[in-house]
Amino acid sequence: RPRIFSGMQPTADSLHLGNYLGALVNWVALQDSHEAIYSVVDLHALTVNPDPGVLLERTRRTAAQYLAAGIDPQRSILFVQSHVAEHAELAWVLSCYTGFGEASRMTQFKDKAARQGTEGANVGLFTYPVLMASDILLYDAALVPVGEDQRQHLEITRDLAQRFNARHGDTFVVPEPHIVRATAKIYDLGDPTAKMGKSTSTATGLVDLLADPAVIAKRIRSAVTDAEREIRFDPEAKPGVSNLLTIHSALSGRSIDQLVEDFTGRGYGDLKKELAEVVLDFVTPFQATVRGYLDDPAELDRVLAVGAERARAIAAPTLATVYERIGLLPRR
Ligand code: ATP
Ligand code: MG
Repeated sequence: RPRIFSGMQPTADSLHLGNYLGALVNWVALQDSHEAIYSVVDLHALTVNPDPGVLLERTRRTAAQYLAAGIDPQRSILFVQSHVAEHAELAWVLSCYTGFGEASRMTQFKDKAARQGTEGANVGLFTYPVLMASDILLYDAALVPVGEDQRQHLEITRDLAQRFNARHGDTFVVPEPHIVRATAKIYDLGDPTAKMGKSTSTATGLVDLLADPAVIAKRIRSAVTDAEREIRFDPEAKPGVSNLLTIHSALSGRSIDQLVEDFTGRGYGDLKKELAEVVLDFVTPFQATVRGYLDDPAELDRVLAVGAERARAIAAPTLATVYERIGLLPRR
């Protein structure tokens, strides 16, 4: 079975619909056909300087949401990034193979740095893609299931793998992104031209999986649409309505064409009302399952400890090979 790796940052108390539909659903689906490795990437979350207690709590919450979504820790490896020290170690090596200009071109850095202000942007935010490349390359992952926003980071990961291989001989597998077109980018409900994001959303644009159902319903009802009345799928001209149709289709399993046909002659209010029902049908049992996992943090930590052992068994030999190839004196 080909290997896959992916992760999410514990940068919020809850994952949102974009994380779920853009990535997590695909993670669950790929578990059978692939040897899957999924991480809560807490080192990445340090780039936003979280409160220590909050970070710790969010790390468990993120893991609980993976499990509730259907990640099976028997079949897949589920672990916390900082538990496997090799991630940070390989990141240092790879940072020495990354051009300053190359890293400067990353649009996520430019966007997030602009938001933090040049004073606030830290070096960790700048080298984020190098740590992400390490996450992937440590495990010889052939495929990386992510949302569209991560495409550029996958490109630099591929470049780094190829550059290292060219200099030191075949060491890393060059990974491919796995981006499912229909749900690759879920948009902010308040600004349907922007991606829904944990740390970047508008006040009413985010649909958190763990939010109060009444809040979720309200956000869907107040989603920005357009001045027409017609329900059709046209992401260019009608980004708001198209986003609602995308979310509906992904959760209900009905095709966009079918939905458009069913909603012929009906208004946006109807679409929003039905979508709220579809979303609540999903989140209600999901929230109960997450609560169950969070009620037993000791068990959750045990599952994560087992995952870390299994992850390290793959990561350590990769790092050892890298150290040897670049000429670091072996420790006797
Ligand atoms: P942050 O704002 O802290 O960066 P985020 O919402 O972007 O948070 P990440 O943890 O950075 O979430 O990303 C986790 C995964 O979710 C990645 O694979 C990413 O591509 C995917 N993802 C994030 N937002 C969306 C979205 N709006 N639509 C589809 N996929 C998304
Ligand atoms: Mg992100």
